[in-house]
Amino acid sequence: MLSKSKILLIYTGGTIGMKKDFETGALRAFNFSKLLQRIPELKQLDCEIETISFENPIDSSNMNPEKWANIAIIIADNYTSFDGFVVLHGSDTMSYSASALSFMLENLSKPVIFTGSQLPIGDLRTDAKENLITAIQIASLRENGKPVISEVGLYFEYKLYRGNRTTKINAEHFNAFTSPNYPHLVESGVHLTLNSELFLPLKTDLHLKVHKALDNNVAIIKMFPGISEVVLAAIFDIPNLKGVILETYGAGNAPTEDWFINLLKEAINKGLHVINVTQCSAGSVSMGQYETSTSMKEIGVISGKDITTEAAITKLMYLLGQKIASNDFKKIFETSLRGEMV
Ligand code: ASP
Repeated sequence: MLSKSKILLIYTGGTIGMKKDFETGALRAFNFSKLLQRIPELKQLDCEIETISFENPIDSSNMNPEKWANIAIIIADNYTSFDGFVVLHGSDTMSYSASALSFMLENLSKPVIFTGSQLPIGDLRTDAKENLITAIQIASLRENGKPVISEVGLYFEYKLYRGNRTTKINAEHFNAFTSPNYPHLVESGVHLTLNSELFLPLKTDLHLKVHKALDNNVAIIKMFPGISEVVLAAIFDIPNLKGVILETYGAGNAPTEDWFINLLKEAINKGLHVINVTQCSAGSVSMGQYETSTSMKEIGVISGKDITTEAAITKLMYLLGQKIASNDFKKIFETSLRGEMV
């Protein structure tokens, strides 16, 4: 008989683990080691669950690369003892964190599932229980003793998505996430429906490599009609800036004016990496399709293709942290490393 799956629940903070202080009305974190007592349903799951918590749980607005490294270290330290990991995280920056961890954990061969909730776990109408219970169930799925999912996923409101394909789209609805350019991996209804053909293939022959060094000398610039030369020039002039995600229009289009192209050209010649992603909520950059992106293609702007901004900025920090040679940077950025782009 197969042993039960062992799941490590990593609590980083967020609404899911908060309770209302009835005197002040404010939400604050509760002691998560008592989680199993608070949710007796967890005992019915056919797996062994252990919990570990950030010493000081955070609202995910305070998430940063150092804390991503802490999550990566917890996973690495417990990698051989557990079959899967569920990361409880505030929903606000969950897509950034799931993207970052997907790059930081190379050759992952076990599930790392991010989840959270819009209402605290103790709230009468909470969405936390379903999210948590199903995330654990998905993390514990095994076939012939091997994990079914071997990538960083994000489970929210009945769907498991590839983490680095997601974006938060709603501040109020339980259905708070979407994966605009890649279908969901699993759907939870009466049964769990697995879209196995969409999963990343299991790599059991390679060892997990944990990359903790991220470089945050980066910026995101969202284009808008009327953006001025002084604003852009000031950004490109920031000392030590190494890379910029440029959120352009439609299929990767931007002004054709000389001052704009010249600024980009100078920045790229100085060694800065400029990545073109679309500010549309779905679809892909296709430089050269319109005249308004041809010059960007010619001067060496990198195509983000159909990547989300969340995955683009974390991939940029990761590749800069890897100290990739300048000549290889464009090619590597334009390659899908963890299923984050086509
Ligand atoms: N502000 C909270 C956070 O992201 C919201 C949530 O938990 O969903 O930490």
